Amino acid sequence: MDSERCWFCERRQADGKHASHVELHRSVKPPGGPAVVVTTKLPVPRCRSCRKGHGRELLVAVLFFLAGGLGGIAAYGLVFEWISRVTGWAIFAMVLFVGFGAAGGFLGMLVSFPLARLVRGRTRPTSHEDTHPAVRQALADGWLKGSAPKAAKR
Ligand SMILES: [Zn+2]
Repeated sequence: MDSERCWFCERRQADGKHASHVELHRSVKPPGGPAVVVTTKLPVPRCRSCRKGHGRELLVAVLFFLAGGLGGIAAYGLVFEWISRVTGWAIFAMVLFVGFGAAGGFLGMLVSFPLARLVRGRTRPTSHEDTHPAVRQALADGWLKGSAPKAAKR
């Protein structure tokens, strides 16, 4: 594992403790028994540098989402007086409050995308892990991406 090359930059040696783990689940039905959902985690080789890049990317996206959301709520605060005077509907005003925050957060995330690519450095996004042979093989074998859905745990 440690002698493998990093799947994300394909330049540096991968380090087992910095591997990216892909969560997978599938439903298995033993003969005569109820179906059970089994989960597994596949490690995709990654180097320290790429792991840090992915961490920075996530941090920037979260920060911009929060900043955008706060900006949206601030914008809402500026027009609140006017809205409540014109409509007089408190519930309508509440919906707008959430809407402004969500719209601001969404805008913030959009702004962060080109920036995220910059802070990530010379590496591929985390979604590149889906193209790893071990992950591709698992998906072909019937495994599904992500942790087990709550509803399937029956
Ligand atoms: Zn790397």
